[in-house]
Amino acid sequence: MSDAPKRPPVTLASNKNKNNSGETNRIAAHSHIRGLDGDACGLTGQTAAREALSLWADLIQKQRVAGRALMLVGPPGSGKTALALALAKQLGPSVPFCALAASRVYSQEVSATAVLAEHFRQAMGLRIRETKEVYEGEVTELTVQETQDALQAYGRTISHVVLTLKTTKGTKTLQLDPTMYDALQKEKVVVGDVIYIEANSGAVKRVGRSDSFATEFDLEAEEYVALPKGEVHKKRQVVQDVTLHDLDVANAHPSAGPRDVSTLLSSLQKPKKTEITDKLRQEINKVVQKYIADGVAEFVPGVLFLDEVHMLDLEAFTFLHRSLESPLSPILVLATNRGMTQIRNADGLISPHGIPADFLDRLLIVPTRPYEAAELQQILSTRAQTEQLKMQPEALDLLTQIGVRTSLRFAVQLLTPAMQLAKVRGLEEIDAAAVQSVDSLFWDGKTSAQFLQKQQ
Ligand code: ATP
Repeated sequence: MSDAPKRPPVTLASNKNKNNSGETNRIAAHSHIRGLDGDACGLTGQTAAREALSLWADLIQKQRVAGRALMLVGPPGSGKTALALALAKQLGPSVPFCALAASRVYSQEVSATAVLAEHFRQAMGLRIRETKEVYEGEVTELTVQETQDALQAYGRTISHVVLTLKTTKGTKTLQLDPTMYDALQKEKVVVGDVIYIEANSGAVKRVGRSDSFATEFDLEAEEYVALPKGEVHKKRQVVQDVTLHDLDVANAHPSAGPRDVSTLLSSLQKPKKTEITDKLRQEINKVVQKYIADGVAEFVPGVLFLDEVHMLDLEAFTFLHRSLESPLSPILVLATNRGMTQIRNADGLISPHGIPADFLDRLLIVPTRPYEAAELQQILSTRAQTEQLKMQPEALDLLTQIGVRTSLRFAVQLLTPAMQLAKVRGLEEIDAAAVQSVDSLFWDGKTSAQFLQKQQ
């Protein structure tokens, strides 16, 4: 029988990429990117930038980049986002990646630093190792003892219950939280009953009399039931990847103070919309740092890609500065397409890329260059394959010319409508006529701006 759990104890997928859908779509547009080098990495061209980023990836893995950040400088559509994502992929399959454009920092109701803080947390991962245990035993003694746990969460003292289960194979003392205790009472468990207990890293998650509980329980763990009663039937390591933001959201509910690994994780199943305060983040950080120190969890710094960095103001740069100093910080990749420009809200002060000198000192800058036609063609071809669209060679040539005239992004966006038009004409692949049609139907940004200018 397979050793893999049949059902993970908590579902994390719905918590992934909870950043707003605009950002998620933006990342989906780069779904062909798998790393920085090698034939299968999905990247084309930008050789020098990729080499620089690979070197940076090596330094990150050797933990030699603390307090510093990388900045990609190049024209729009020269692959800066794609490269930042490639860096994250290069670092490992479950390394978080989060992209934020600085213009969005100032377009929301909350403060700029709150927006930044949330995205920083989305770019920091935690790989938590839990031990899942299952017991079955006859209750020979049931002692219920109310205790006051020392944990003070948000000004509340959480109480729980100690259950002593004397089984045929010895005595097992387990702590139950009040909801587990309720379950036990509801089932009227008495001495002599056989009960099942499932625990994650020592904290009881499920408990019940075998006759009423077994059906559901067996579905998940049928391999356990044949083993002798009273033993720890099975221990298993379960690894979960979450971001610090997931934990913030899940624990923002006032009555759910962080306690142990599994309580923290199980609260992911019921995220609440409550304000995430700095105090909560600090609480979570403390618990996280303890897990890391105890070896229960591993910190996985992800990549935070901060685009249009020239739009940030002094307060935001102070925030970035401080965050880089923190022991829990992501890998920061900034990007801009501006040269000398004013620093926002700094009395007209001009600096390279609109970045204050002391922050600029912390950056290593990597240029990205405009693509040559052959590179555009290769990227368009990769994108078509990723989107499972077939294209005739003449159609690809024409789309490349459009990309050269307008932008790579615009040319990529024409792929799906072109396929649609080809299908209407009964074709299975994009032909040159379909590309020509969509090119006349849709305009790129430059063309539409010129059109309006002429009208004025
Ligand atoms: P920038 O962030 O510099 O504006 P970008 O990374 O967002 O650029 P787009 O112009 O949006 O790039 O690129 C359109 C598409 O081309 C995306 O699917 C992107 O992943 C892909 N792409 C861009 N550069 C490369 C590259 N060097 N190799 C492979 N794919 C690329």
